[in-house]
Amino acid sequence: MEPRPLAPWQQQRLDAALAAWRAGRLGHAQLLCGPEAIGKRAVAEALTARLLCEAAPALPACGECRSCRLLAAGSHPDFRLVTFEVNENTDKLRRELVVEQVRALSGSMQMTAQRGGAQVVLIDPADALNTAAANALLKTLEEPAPNRFLLLLSAEPQRLPATIRSRCQRLEFALPPRAEALAWLEAGGHAPARAAEALEAAAGHPGLADAWLRGGGLALREATLKEWAAVARGIASPLTTAQHWFAEPETAPLRLRFVADATLALARAAAGAPAPLGLTPPGDLDKLARWFDSLNRLRQQLAAPLRHELALAGLLAEWRALMATTETRR
Ligand SMILES: [Zn+2]
Repeated sequence: MEPRPLAPWQQQRLDAALAAWRAGRLGHAQLLCGPEAIGKRAVAEALTARLLCEAAPALPACGECRSCRLLAAGSHPDFRLVTFEVNENTDKLRRELVVEQVRALSGSMQMTAQRGGAQVVLIDPADALNTAAANALLKTLEEPAPNRFLLLLSAEPQRLPATIRSRCQRLEFALPPRAEALAWLEAGGHAPARAAEALEAAAGHPGLADAWLRGGGLALREATLKEWAAVARGIASPLTTAQHWFAEPETAPLRLRFVADATLALARAAAGAPAPLGLTPPGDLDKLARWFDSLNRLRQQLAAPLRHELALAGLLAEWRALMATTETRR
């Protein structure tokens, strides 16, 4: 399948980087930062293709030269991708980037480019570099070489050591204006009403809205929030609901994210905004804020192998008690 053309907000970031490159101002280390799923990787890949392409710099990447074909085939000798790898000891995907990966990189980067052009390294996600790996990368960052580029991608750049951040030029991605996001979703084949609903649910993030529309996330949100409201109204049991939400553990983080977003919307409803699912905001907003904090603590612990459904059942019981004064049994 052909990759989708870049969205307008992605193309703008690419054009900015390319303008800097053509003017000889593109720093050797670029930090592409912005929300998850906003298109940093697509822009980094398009930038890589242009940096490696053998066509004249004024032209876009041609897609036909030897470099372009090698890159598309995943075998360009002057391109390195550093991302999560399988740990040979456990057969599981590592959750961090380790120092061996950066050392392998520095070794190949000290050689001259095999095809005589640029060398490009893409590190995704850069905030997953562990301390040893970040220190090793720092050495490479401190020794810029002409025509060698490091592209660091991060949704949480504040987690990167300041020593690394300070050596990078930033390419910032922000959420696009609503109309632009909607037009892009509709061009991607989504019906206008659903696109608007998903964009609203994703707080204006078109990449997430698209992923939810394609992957059933929006339907999961509707089902989850209905059950959350049913617990508040005393119709559904906290324990059964918690067990149901963890029946497919991989969807649980998304369910709890939707609930957290809806809790915020409920707090805003106390100030006159529309309430989610017709719920009445509780009189005690401090209690709601504390419940929101507990929910977020649970979300942060989801990666740990604990009995989360029991913790969630306890939380949902608190939620029911919190809402009992405002929601009557139906
Ligand atoms: Zn080319």
